[in-house]
Amino acid sequence: MSTSAEPLVRIAGVNKHFGRTQVLHDIDLDVAAGEVVVVIGPSGSGKSTLCRCVNRLETITSGTIAIDGVPLPAEGRQLAGLRADAGMVFQSFNLFAHLTALQNVVLAPVKVRGRSRADAESAGRLLLARVGLADKADSYPAELSGGQQQRVAIARALAMDPKVLLFDEPTSALDPEMIQEVLDVLVELAAEGMTMIVVTHEMGFARKAADRVVFMDEGRILEISPPAEFFTSPRHERSADFLSKVL
Ligand code: ADP
Ligand code: MG
Repeated sequence: MSTSAEPLVRIAGVNKHFGRTQVLHDIDLDVAAGEVVVVIGPSGSGKSTLCRCVNRLETITSGTIAIDGVPLPAEGRQLAGLRADAGMVFQSFNLFAHLTALQNVVLAPVKVRGRSRADAESAGRLLLARVGLADKADSYPAELSGGQQQRVAIARALAMDPKVLLFDEPTSALDPEMIQEVLDVLVELAAEGMTMIVVTHEMGFARKAADRVVFMDEGRILEISPPAEFFTSPRHERSADFLSKVL
């Protein structure tokens, strides 16, 4: 945990355009070290774009995004290293099919961080154990269930020692019976103090694990509330409308 009062992630006045279309409007969001922020909202509201901007997969049109006080763009640091500050887990796992679970986990630490293969592998085995997959290190993605593949993807993100983890609908591509095993890993990470921004439609998870819920609609943050408040007395009409459809 950071000792300063500075938020771990500071998103201030962020606007994002694709061509002439503005998809993020004046986004302000501070995330404290150890905090779990769950982002919800209808399809097309800009949730993925916001994550991708924090992860530097997209550039922002204006505003600032800083992680641990380092603003974007930061001078003198390579983009790959910067990206590693924010680990991202996608809906569609994105594992390399020709690599085993362990090889997927060690790839970036070796290639980007320059760690020795032996060190990366022993760390990688511990991470696989942490997500409940100690016995799957040598399995290929095709030999794993969707839930297991997503847990490998989480171990892979953790392998870069990120300061914040971004999850973009991590369970949306999973069969229902596999959703909980992935959410359990997220709950555990939260309990260990990992700072997380989680885009999800899993309202049970949001209620239980979120410190704050962010509701987005049409590229804007309409409401930021603690879950107890958000789910019982949403402040915005459109939050209430969204909840009436998903609960
Ligand atoms: P969400 O994740 O909430 O469903 P997105 O962030 O994916 O929303 O999309 C927000 C808006 O930005 C949508 O209107 C989408 O069509 C648009 N958009 C997303 N990515 C691109 C892109 N690469 N080029 C153009 N428009 C995009
Ligand atoms: Mg999305």
